Amino acid sequence: MNSLVLLGSSGSIGRQTLDVCESCGVAVEAISVNTDVRTLESQVRKFSPRYAAVVNESSASDAKIRLADTDTVILSGAEGLLEMLCLSRSDTVLNAIVGQAGLMPTVRSLEEGKRLALANKESLVCAGEIVMRLARKKGCSVLPVDSEHCAIHQCLRSGRECEVDRLILTASGGPFFGKSRDMLKNVTPEMTLRHPTWNMGKKISVDSATMMNKGFEIIEAAHLFGVSVDNIDAVVHRQSVVHSMVAFRDGSLIAQLGSPDMRTCIAYALFYPERACGMFSPFDPVSAGNLTFERPDNEAFPLMREAVYAFRRAGVIPAVMNAVNEEAVYAFLDGKLDFCGISDIVSDFVHNYSNMEEPSLDDIEKAASDARSLARQRLGLL
Ligand code: MG
Repeated sequence: MNSLVLLGSSGSIGRQTLDVCESCGVAVEAISVNTDVRTLESQVRKFSPRYAAVVNESSASDAKIRLADTDTVILSGAEGLLEMLCLSRSDTVLNAIVGQAGLMPTVRSLEEGKRLALANKESLVCAGEIVMRLARKKGCSVLPVDSEHCAIHQCLRSGRECEVDRLILTASGGPFFGKSRDMLKNVTPEMTLRHPTWNMGKKISVDSATMMNKGFEIIEAAHLFGVSVDNIDAVVHRQSVVHSMVAFRDGSLIAQLGSPDMRTCIAYALFYPERACGMFSPFDPVSAGNLTFERPDNEAFPLMREAVYAFRRAGVIPAVMNAVNEEAVYAFLDGKLDFCGISDIVSDFVHNYSNMEEPSLDDIEKAASDARSLARQRLGLL
């Protein structure tokens, strides 16, 4: 890797990626944020990227004023971000944008022939077939920046593709595992953001608590590794030490273990097939204590199963599911929807929304935006 373009630099993965760049001496050619200009400013002053894109137009004007004394070129709007991908010379893009907004930047990165380190799982949830087809056509590798998929990527190195029996994703279960649906009615955003093992952004913390995140990850794994969803399972593993496993046809189960630290997974994606050295202290299995594995509770947390159903319906339904989930999660965080309301509305759209076969990217974006408006209307947000 010569240098890096980092999309979504102010979020949790973005900040940790800059930590990795700093410790490993990776040059940062370009960064982007949605609105957080204050964080952008400090990152520009520290890493001196050639380009910085700010998606929100008024925040971009603010950034231009704040950074007028630097050599960094500021680009504005969603178009400015895409333009930055064309202007940049780096061979690698790490996409850490949250939500569907990450899809077009994923597509543009691949069109530009760049190697893609992908933390934006929504790109694969919404348009996995199109994205992976484009990556194959352009000869670009897509490396997951998601702990489970990073683990599976590593486990798959111990056998041939035809020898793989099943992929087993681990799930922490989130803060409410073990609770019944009745007990979930009164949980608050604050309780939801208290994740037991991982320290993550707000959106993904809620997705983790509802198990929507694990559903997204099953879809992500199916696209990334070309494995049928029938051969992908999830198990609840509260300690988040085993990051995922692959079962081979001879009965061997290969697991990847480590501390719950996204920086290992960021470094893996950036340096693959090499391994970064000296960044992390060795993992001590004794201090990890007892490890437990349990079946997920699909009654109290139906969204993992619903995601698999959406994947089977294919077409625009996974993108519709994602769009409605985004609206529902933000409504929940704003106190306008209760916790179980998230899965109620997502399930309704997954089962009843009208589908379209072989959609183009435009069809997918249109369906997602229509579903988003309808969901906002139903949630009383319009
Ligand atoms: Mg994950």
